Amino acid sequence: MAPILIIGGGIAGVASALALQKAGLEATVYEAHPHNSQDGGAFLTLASNGMRALQQIDADAVVAEAGSSLRTMRVCNGAGTEVATVPLGDHRDPATRYRYLTRAGLCAALQQEAQRRGIPIQRGKRLTRVIEHRGGVTADFSDGTRAAGEILIGADGLNSTVRPLIDPAAPAPRYVGQRVFYGYSRNTGVRSDPDCFQVIRGAAAFGYIVTQQQDIWWFARVVDDELHRRDLTSGTPTRWQAELSAMLQSEPTPAAGIVEAAHRVLVTNAYDLADVPTWHRTRTIVIGDAAHAASPATGQGASMALEDAVVLAKALRDQPDPAGAFTTYEQLRRERVQANITASARMSAPDPTNGRAASRPPRSPGTPDEALTAQLDWHVPLAPPSRTRGP
Ligand SMILES: Cc1cc2nc3c(=O)[nH]c(=O)nc-3n(C[C@H](O)[C@H](O)[C@H](O)COP(=O)(O)OP(=O)(O)OC[C@H]3O[C@@H](n4cnc5c(N)ncnc54)[C@H](O)[C@@H]3O)c2cc1C
Repeated sequence: MAPILIIGGGIAGVASALALQKAGLEATVYEAHPHNSQDGGAFLTLASNGMRALQQIDADAVVAEAGSSLRTMRVCNGAGTEVATVPLGDHRDPATRYRYLTRAGLCAALQQEAQRRGIPIQRGKRLTRVIEHRGGVTADFSDGTRAAGEILIGADGLNSTVRPLIDPAAPAPRYVGQRVFYGYSRNTGVRSDPDCFQVIRGAAAFGYIVTQQQDIWWFARVVDDELHRRDLTSGTPTRWQAELSAMLQSEPTPAAGIVEAAHRVLVTNAYDLADVPTWHRTRTIVIGDAAHAASPATGQGASMALEDAVVLAKALRDQPDPAGAFTTYEQLRRERVQANITASARMSAPDPTNGRAASRPPRSPGTPDEALTAQLDWHVPLAPPSRTRGP
């Protein structure tokens, strides 16, 4: 049987390759970037549902090793008053506890694991065209090469090439009205339990973690206009730092001091992608951010991508043909990812009373419920959801 072609060597793509191999299916990953690390250095949190997905493909330990754990989230308002402290996900289970790590670190850990298991990852392969034909699919790359496979999985992120190839009318990502700053600071004098994710809901939605080494990893979501591509590449860290610390200065919280102490600051626009009507054709499907993307507020994008990878591999394992597998996959995934996009958009909408990043109370995110746990469980066969009969 021809291998499965996976476009994109990010989180969804490499996790899919690991899951497919476990399901006894051969896959090759084609990644546009010529080098290992594709990312400027932002960090992310992996929630318990993401760690549970990794557990199914025996990749939780390598990711846990690459990251650090979080057990609680403490939320303060802009006056520095604590408003809530909540446990995060399966905080009692060391295997599925929340983790934080850089996005590049997560990709590298997954890619190294894939290579260790003999899964081919071809770099410098930018997909340009897909042709479906009876019995298979061919993929063309910008370097003039071509690959043939049984099916093609588009795991090529928010600005997917595969998505419009499946449906030329597919929607494009939407700017959600927030810029996201990331920074790394040292010598701040700010102390915190390294297992605690600190959130300050003031002029910005500000989050920070004090690492075991007493460094601080932080982000700030700020309501503002979309930055032009030119600004994203030309804005110096000093400029971003000054603008952000000025905004936070008036609040009696550690946020401004943490920003001032940063040795590295990055900024990006926040987008989401909702209601992509067509996820698949006969032999081509999109998953991860290529199919659905929430704004960063719920911190679930990577975890959802990992869930996608496991559920799609199980569907391909358990259904007799790709069409049945794609249909089952979509029936199981669409409602869940859409709920996350909606929740994240709600959290990203400006507070109507002051126009700032909204200060809604935290939910207890990322704890898999019974149905999701069964869907992810490698040993539980995957069946299409039973339909509720109408009246
Ligand atoms: C600011 C910000 C903060 C976030 N914070 C969090 C968080 O805290 N927790 C969380 O879970 N998620 C977070 N996310 C979301 C998370 O990063 C994404 O949901 C996740 O990376 C999606 O994985 P993916 O594999 O679908 O896409 P990506 O990680 O984007 O990977 C896509 C891959 O496809 C490759 N590619 C693209 N086009 C082609 C092509 N034509 N041919 C071949 N290869 C191609 C790219 O180079 C890339 O390697 C955040 C996102 C942003 C923007």
